[in-house]
Amino acid sequence: MNKPVKTTCPYCGVGCGVIVSGDEAGGYSVKGDAEHPANCGLLCSKGSALAETLTLDGRLLQPEVAGKTVDWEEAISQAATGLQKIIAEHGPDAVAFYVSGQLLTEDYYFANKLMKPFICSGNIDTNSRLCMSSAVAGYRRAFGSDTGPGCYEDIERAKLIVLAGSNTAWCHPIIYQRIMRAKKANPDLFVVVIDPRKTATSESADLHLALAPGSDQLLFNGLFKYIVDNGEADKEFVTQHTQGFEQVAHSDLPEIKTVSENCRLDIQDVEKFYRLFARTDRVVTLFSQGVNQWSNGTDRVNAIINVHLLTGRIGRPGMGPFSITGQPNAMGGREVGGMANQLAAHMSIENQQHHEWLKQFWQAPALTKTAGLKAVELFQAIEAGTVKAVWIMATNPAVSLPDSSKVRAALKKCELVIVSDCMRANDTTQYADILLPAQTWGERDGTVTNSERCISRQRPFLNSAGEARADWWIITQVAKKLGYEKAFGYQSPAEIFCEHARLSGWKNQGTRDFDISAFAELDEQAYAQLQPVQWPVTQHSPGGTRRMFGDGQYYTDNGKARFVPVANSAVRACASAAQPLMLNTGRVRDHWHSMARTGKSARLSMHVREPYVELHPDDALDYRLKENALARVSSVHGQALLRVRISAGQQKGQLFIPIHWNDQFAAQACANQLVPARVDPVSGQPEFKHTPVSIEASTPAWYGFVITRRELTAAADFDYWTKIKNEHSLSYELAGFTPPDDWTKMARSLLCADAVQAEWIEYYDPAQSRYRAARIDNGVLDSCIFIGPDCKLPDKNGLLKMFSVDALAEADRRSILSGESASPMAEQGAVVCACFSVGINSIRQAIEQRQLQSVDEIGAALRAGTNCGSCRPEIQALIDATLNAQA
Ligand code: SF4
Repeated sequence: MNKPVKTTCPYCGVGCGVIVSGDEAGGYSVKGDAEHPANCGLLCSKGSALAETLTLDGRLLQPEVAGKTVDWEEAISQAATGLQKIIAEHGPDAVAFYVSGQLLTEDYYFANKLMKPFICSGNIDTNSRLCMSSAVAGYRRAFGSDTGPGCYEDIERAKLIVLAGSNTAWCHPIIYQRIMRAKKANPDLFVVVIDPRKTATSESADLHLALAPGSDQLLFNGLFKYIVDNGEADKEFVTQHTQGFEQVAHSDLPEIKTVSENCRLDIQDVEKFYRLFARTDRVVTLFSQGVNQWSNGTDRVNAIINVHLLTGRIGRPGMGPFSITGQPNAMGGREVGGMANQLAAHMSIENQQHHEWLKQFWQAPALTKTAGLKAVELFQAIEAGTVKAVWIMATNPAVSLPDSSKVRAALKKCELVIVSDCMRANDTTQYADILLPAQTWGERDGTVTNSERCISRQRPFLNSAGEARADWWIITQVAKKLGYEKAFGYQSPAEIFCEHARLSGWKNQGTRDFDISAFAELDEQAYAQLQPVQWPVTQHSPGGTRRMFGDGQYYTDNGKARFVPVANSAVRACASAAQPLMLNTGRVRDHWHSMARTGKSARLSMHVREPYVELHPDDALDYRLKENALARVSSVHGQALLRVRISAGQQKGQLFIPIHWNDQFAAQACANQLVPARVDPVSGQPEFKHTPVSIEASTPAWYGFVITRRELTAAADFDYWTKIKNEHSLSYELAGFTPPDDWTKMARSLLCADAVQAEWIEYYDPAQSRYRAARIDNGVLDSCIFIGPDCKLPDKNGLLKMFSVDALAEADRRSILSGESASPMAEQGAVVCACFSVGINSIRQAIEQRQLQSVDEIGAALRAGTNCGSCRPEIQALIDATLNAQA
């Protein structure tokens, strides 16, 4: 690699620019791109660790059919023949594509182009359905278009920032850091967090409204009434630029007292929020999954948009409703019609004129007349047998869809499952009849669009691994085999991007928001050098468009934005005595989706090392649950066995489980096996935030852990296991309900499966039910196992240190089975700062013993929080808690 390459982070919808440089040893380093408008040089922990995730382990390197390696010709031929046969026998709606916000826009464009006009079915949907389709539906109801009005710069221009249903500090860390920087520059900037949970984000809020789960719609409806009653509405804006005000104003809007009672908020806090919102001109409301992922998520979105329209706070600097998208290219997928109920270039599936225009543009014989099946419906149709072939691209629905056991059952019985992925083994690939190796980040070449409509390039800096190919190329080959050579004769992503740009301007003339026709004639060089730019990009706005709707014109029939009356959502009753608790699911700071990439980084694996269920201390008492012990969580759909975390940040009656863990990293830890397939009727987005569940203590006969230099395939035989990457080894946490007859036999079969002769040392105390053993190979600690009767096992730091050396010191060799290195490290506890491996105990000690009282002081002393900054809210929370305890 001769020159550093500018590309875009592949994780969240913030869409940060990164610069990748090669070193002489063949390695890579990644830093933030100071010229990228999304992050201005900043990177979060995930972005900072990208270079650690470029290894080939686990990659799918060659096409496979029925488990056998084949060449591309054979794989493409089998895929096309399989699809063709099912279409011929059962019609085009018997096949479906399930695609992903991880795809590049060029891939997405071709997937949609193959399905809707050529196969002639609407059955293409995307995993973006799971994270922001309610925002899309809410925008379209209000604006007549799927238009995000604002830009990130509004964060710095705002005087009040409202974060609704978003743990921004963990899920969109660079947006959070921009908020914190803006707050530092402008101490008058007020931040309100609306979230039932106490999170890293709420720690730094000026006001945290820890409302009853699901009551945010009531809160915003009450705000609407407050603004009207107090004469704070922008009457001129409402009259000139909106419609439907009367319907909302005369609907059943709640009084503050009702809001306070039903949202379970202090009435003064509600009044304070309402007063601030009503009287602050520059307000940005950022919202995310906590708003979208409900069975009435679209209504929740419109409740937020309503108050912005009422105050005219949209389309100008420092204000507006702002959906922050989960995935790197969720927005790009929306541009190309990658959802079952959309057409390309923001054309409408309900508009017959648009159908005709698209047919003309693509010179296609037909175009699906109706919307296809949305994600959840699509897999239900597979289960019902009406969809008989599915092509899954760059996503893992066996983990990410609700009621995932049913999804797995559907895939198992599906006649033809084609999976394009970069990984050989995930929970979905096991059901594939045909596996197609796809490129991944670093190899891919194309564009993505972030939450602020900014199109950025993902540029390659690595050769494709094995036989991996670009997703657009794979689609092209299948399309050609299906007989559509002419429409898919393109040779490069630049050519596809130009067609996409041309289509955006086709018959547009300002009638559609998405227009990048200025790029219609880009040549390869110009495409290679394309700079980040916010759409629309037209002859009139060649430099892009920062904000939309500044002229008060919307894409509705009469050009006016629409108020949408929405019911007051009440807090729901628990479903039954059998499931008295409510489950909320979400992300952790340093992992992404099903961990295919972040699970490769030891640094990212340090922060949260195991799947867990978090609950309030009172619930822990009621259900006799202890910190770190195991608990079984059950819903009517499935079960999970998880480590218990007790936190006063949870509300009573509420549980939280992270979404990332799956069968590759743990037994029985897939959160979505619990979640029902209940969806919003407008958007089709599943309700991940509100599942009735029960919890009970699980009492294994033994707990244990293994640290090893190799994968342990036999770990899957244990009742409880989880796997996590360390710098020089892997750690497995284990537990079992029945002790083995012979510990030595069990340990040897686990750790000595390779039959290599090595030194074996062990210790067994039957009275205490403790067993420990280690395998030393040529003076190197190869693996060790520690078993005990409860979850109190030795700290692993000393052992991990022994795995970091090439030859064990004699003193260390003698102390292995004590679990402590002869040169002990202070027990640092759970890692808070992943960049510099600083643990919670080290930070607490620094606060207590050195009297450090600010995050910057901790940074100066320990370096914690001085690189990516993702841990700064947690450090602040530790400072607050420690100082409070001292006081
Ligand atoms: Fe990547 Fe972090 Fe930026 Fe998201 S916030 S795009 S994960 S660097």
